[in-house]
Formats: sequence, structure tokens, C-alpha cells
Amino acid sequence: MDKTSLQQKPLTLREEKLLDWDSVQTSFDKSFGNEIYTSWLKHISLLKEFNDHVILGVKTRFFRDWITSRYADKILNELKKHKISIKRIEFKIEPEISNSKSTFNSSIINKVSEIKNSALNYNRLNPSLNFENFIVGKSNNLGFLSAKKICSQLSRYNPLFIYGGVGLGKTHLLNSIGLELSQKNKVMFISAERFMYQFIKSIKKNEMVNFKDFFRKANVFIIDDIQFIRGKEGLQEEFFHTFNSLFDQSAQIVISSDRAPNKLDRVQDRIKSRLSGGLVVDIGAPDYDLKLNILKKKIVDYQNTFKENPDLNDDVINYIANNSNSNIRELIGIFNRVVAFGKMSKNSLSINDCKIILKDVYNANKVISIDKIQNVTSNFFSISLSDMLSPRRSRPLARPRQVAMYMAKKLTTRSLPEIGRKFANRDHTTVIHAVKTIEKLSENNDEMRKNIEELKSLILSD
Ligand code: ADP
Ligand code: MG
Repeated sequence: MDKTSLQQKPLTLREEKLLDWDSVQTSFDKSFGNEIYTSWLKHISLLKEFNDHVILGVKTRFFRDWITSRYADKILNELKKHKISIKRIEFKIEPEISNSKSTFNSSIINKVSEIKNSALNYNRLNPSLNFENFIVGKSNNLGFLSAKKICSQLSRYNPLFIYGGVGLGKTHLLNSIGLELSQKNKVMFISAERFMYQFIKSIKKNEMVNFKDFFRKANVFIIDDIQFIRGKEGLQEEFFHTFNSLFDQSAQIVISSDRAPNKLDRVQDRIKSRLSGGLVVDIGAPDYDLKLNILKKKIVDYQNTFKENPDLNDDVINYIANNSNSNIRELIGIFNRVVAFGKMSKNSLSINDCKIILKDVYNANKVISIDKIQNVTSNFFSISLSDMLSPRRSRPLARPRQVAMYMAKKLTTRSLPEIGRKFANRDHTTVIHAVKTIEKLSENNDEMRKNIEELKSLILSD
């Protein structure tokens, strides 16, 4: 790349149909989520635009490597939505850019408050993740008790290290500790990813002194998802010093992780030994009782919020507790869906409804092919695949064919013409007709409804 010409004319955006960078940024925010957006993508600038590619500016090599290794494909896709002709992106490291703009005159004082403000933003505790609504069971009892314990006796166990799988309540517990202690202490609550973001930003702006000061002022330091530091040497170095300095001044340190300290590969041994030097507790998968109690609590919450009953009978609740996976976040997701579904249907929810909803939830990310739908459906109706796809219109063949088209519409994201093509090149109006016919039939005909449900679970199961 010709660097000099870029520097001389950094923004020669004179071509037709130019990208509106602000609206590109807005769509980054939407599609990547605010966390990733504010940490990374927000800081990308548009340096130069060509018809088929763009040159994007990032501040450091680390930034560039991070973004290209994780987000490049998706960034390209997003850009294409704004300008279809873009085929590739290039990144250029532009360390000068921030200085040449508005920040060059910011005083030290401004810099301090900038770190403060942005860190405070990430320091926000969620008031609804508190001890009161944390339901205790066998799998999380120890975690809960330890969390409570350190709140009443600061620095008695230091650090408190809580680990366990996804969606089991680690962040909830950490947040509860933060809430409980924030009345009387200076609490710092940050995810390891945010910590790194602050760290890099401070290096870049030559503000490491402020960074160190800021984090070392806390007397309760809570850091979520420490596994994030694996393999990041510079970050580990800084974390180690922050940890030691906090520890030396008897600040309470609380850490969560998706695995035990000794299982943190690519983390320096001295850090691992620090992490396991206090109290290490794990949160396990919830058993039936805990899941049941969480569901009951959710029902009470629902009644309190909406002043009405969510209308779930005991069988349904038992079914969910028995058949959901061991992930509390997912369990709550299922609960919300079941309740929403119940509100929409006239009859009260059956176990069968629940079965379908659960399957739906677990299959949400699974891609289902039309081929699979066709195979399972023809098997289900005991006809051959070639008969099902043939032009013959006799009912024993036409119905299964319509059912299969209906399933393809409901269970895949394929368009009507695409579905038509997969059914021996039928027209999309044929598909519309099939979908309508089967919808109507399953409303009025019990047998059809039963068939559809059975078939759906067959298709969704492996
Ligand atoms: P993790 O950080 O371990 O991935 P979270 O703390 O984010 O999990 O928990 C996922 C969801 O489940 C959150 O909505 C949380 O409030 C809820 N949750 C987890 N454990 C419990 C519990 N014991 N009681 C009530 N809600 C819980
Ligand atoms: Mg978490």
C-alpha cells in the first residue's frame, strides 16, 4: 500500500455513492451488540474508499489483529449491506489520528476524568441481579454462602474465586456482591474484556499511570470472566501487578472464571497460584429441584409484575424442569417463551406444546435443510421421495408434498421460490397454496395437527 499518498489525502471521498460512515457505525452497533461495538468497532475510522474496497484505520497493531481475527468477515458483510460493490477491506494502523483531531489539547485532568467516566460506565451494577433473587440449590449453595460471607467479612477469604459453566449464575453472584458492598465501599466491577480494553486504551494514550491509579483505588475489586486473559501476556502482566497491589492494601478481590484456576492454560503460573490462594468454589449444573424453584420464582415475579397468572400447570412446570438443559439462562428463556406462547393460545398449555417449544429453543441455531425435511416427511407418510416430488396429484402423494412444503416454510429461512425449486421446480404460488392448505387443515383437523407436531419433532431431532 502506498502510505504516503494515504497520509497526504486521508479522506479523498469523492467517488459516487459513498459510504455514510455514521450509519455504518450504527449498523455495527446493532449487529455486533453494544459491548463489542464500544470496545472495538466504534474506534475504526474510514480512511479511504474505493469502489470495491475500503481502507479502515485502527489505532494499534493489537487492535488490528484483534479485529481482523474476530470480526473481519462480519464487518465486510455489514459494509456490503451499505455498498454492495465492496469486496474486501484493508486495515491500516494510524496511531496519529486521535492526536491530530480534537484530543491533542486535552489536559491531564481531562484524561483522568475520561478514564474515570468510561470505566464507570462499565462499572454499572445491575440492580436486579441481587442476593434476594438468587435461588439457592445444591449446585450453587457453596458459591452463594461464600459470596455472602465475604460481604460480611471483607478480606477474610482473598481472593474469592468462583468458577463454573455458562449461564450458571456467576455474573449474578458477582453483581450481588458488588451491590451489597457498594454502599460502604469503593467497588470496581469489570469484565476481564473491559479491563483489557481500558488497558490498551491507556497504553495508547500514554496514560498507564492513570490506569494503575484508577484500578488500585478500589477496596473491592470484582473481575468477571478472567479466562479472557488466557494467552495475553501483556494483559496478564498488568493484571498481576494490579492484583498484587490491591491484595497488599487488603482490598477484597472477587474473580469468576469458566474453569478452575489450575485449568487456566496459557496463564502464567504465578497468576494461577495467586488466583487459587484464597477461597475457590465452583458452581455446578442445577438439579431438578433448583430448576423447579427458579421456575416457581419466575412465576411469582410474573404475577407481581403483570398482576396476572402466567397460567402454567404443574405438569408443564415439571416437564420443563425435567427436560431443560443445565443452563439457567436457557431455562429462563424457555420459561419466557412458554409463557408468551400460553398467552397467545386459547387453550391452556399442554406438555406437547412444551415439548415443541423446548425443541424450538434448542434447535434455534440448528440449520435444517429442505432435503432433510423431504426425507423425514416422505418416510413419515410411507411414500418414496421420488413419488413425493413427482408431478402426480393424487391425494396420498399431494398431501405429504404439501406438508413438506409447509415444514420447509416453517422450519427454514428459505424463500418461497427457493422452496418451490427444491420441489421439482414448482412455482412459488404452489408453495403458498400448500402452506395455506396445511395451516387451515391443522386448525380444523385433529389428526392433521397431531401429524404436524409429530413430524416436526422428528425433523428437529437428530
Ligand atoms: P454466568 O455468568 O455463569 O454465565 P449468569 O450469572 O449470567 O451466568 O446467569 C444467567 C442467567 O440466569 C441470569 O439471568 C441470572 O440472573 C440467572 N440465574 C443464574 N443463577 C440463578 C439463580 N440461582 N437464581 C436465579 N437466577 C439465576
Ligand atoms: Mg457471566
